[in-house]
Amino acid sequence: MSSESDCIFCGIAAGRIASDIVREDERTVAFRDTNPQAPTHVLVIPRDHLTSLDHAGPDDRDLLGDVLRAAGEVARSEGIADAGYRTVINTGEEGGQSVGHLHAHVLGGRRLTWPPG
Ligand code: 5GP
Ligand code: ZN
Repeated sequence: MSSESDCIFCGIAAGRIASDIVREDERTVAFRDTNPQAPTHVLVIPRDHLTSLDHAGPDDRDLLGDVLRAAGEVARSEGIADAGYRTVINTGEEGGQSVGHLHAHVLGGRRLTWPPG
């Protein structure tokens, strides 16, 4: 297992930093985004530190699958699955990633536009 002591999302996963957790299991944690972009805006992270999708290798297949599976379960438990929702993983500077611990945004509760900004 890897973790980074200065990583804010590792801190949330470890309970060192407060967050509004909506779901957690052995390998993932889901919590509300502090700057929500939709009525429902939850972040799903792996407990193990992975900087971004660009840092994922063959050994991360389970981790990536766990995050996406958890995202689907969050959408269902948040009541947005039937209407539809969006799952986003921003990667790198031009992708809009601002926190260097891989996370999937789960957005819903309103009609989302396309393309994203
Ligand atoms: P990114 O821009 O990297 O795709 O997404 C990072 C997200 O994390 C942003 O939507 C931002 O609002 C959220 N965020 C940043 N710091 C915190 C925090 O300390 N707690 C929570 N719950 N969300 C955070
Ligand atoms: Zn981390």
